[in-house]
Amino acid sequence: MNEKTIRLEALKKEIEENRTLPLYSEANLVFGEGDASAQVLFIGEAPGFHENEQRRPFVGQAGKLLDNLLKQIGWPRNSVYITNIVKRRPPNNRDPLLEEIEAYKPYLARQIEIIQPKLIATLGRFSMNYFLPDAKISRDHGKLMKTEHYTIYPLYHPAAALRSTAVLRELEDDFKKLPEILNGLQNGANGGIVEMINKNAKTNQAADQMPLF
Ligand code: URA
Repeated sequence: MNEKTIRLEALKKEIEENRTLPLYSEANLVFGEGDASAQVLFIGEAPGFHENEQRRPFVGQAGKLLDNLLKQIGWPRNSVYITNIVKRRPPNNRDPLLEEIEAYKPYLARQIEIIQPKLIATLGRFSMNYFLPDAKISRDHGKLMKTEHYTIYPLYHPAAALRSTAVLRELEDDFKKLPEILNGLQNGANGGIVEMINKNAKTNQAADQMPLF
């Protein structure tokens, strides 16, 4: 096991043992999976029924779509890292509560700190708003955003794409840009900052947010 994998395992154990976390007694821990040294980190909202059963993120219908989207761009699922903000399933798949997001947030921050991805692709508005509190998914999906510490690429949630063909098309289009975006980031290119938004917005470990391309 490499150092990052060992640190992630230790973090997983720490969450598992924290009995004060909301949903602790109601659901299994779904910590996340993938390459501990991944360049791209996908962050969803919270596990659903199948994720809770299998203790793995994105393994239900939305997960199958995510797998297909990754396949279409030639990225094996195990070459990226996939996790959620809230790491236990809210009852009946309801939206996560603010207090649940708050309670699990520090663990997500530490996961990111260990993995050190070049790019964070958020799936849906909950994880997008964690980094970009003022962003709107219908307006900002597919825009590469820079915060003080992270480069964020907001994407629609695959579950939303399963409900709407129009959203599916947008998600597919945004996904297709991922290889080029990652390439640009690996080469240190920003692709040209076109506009600065939310300059003074308070973000999580983030001050400036600017779409890159
Ligand atoms: N939806 C999410 O946000 N995360 C999962 O892991 C599965 C479905």
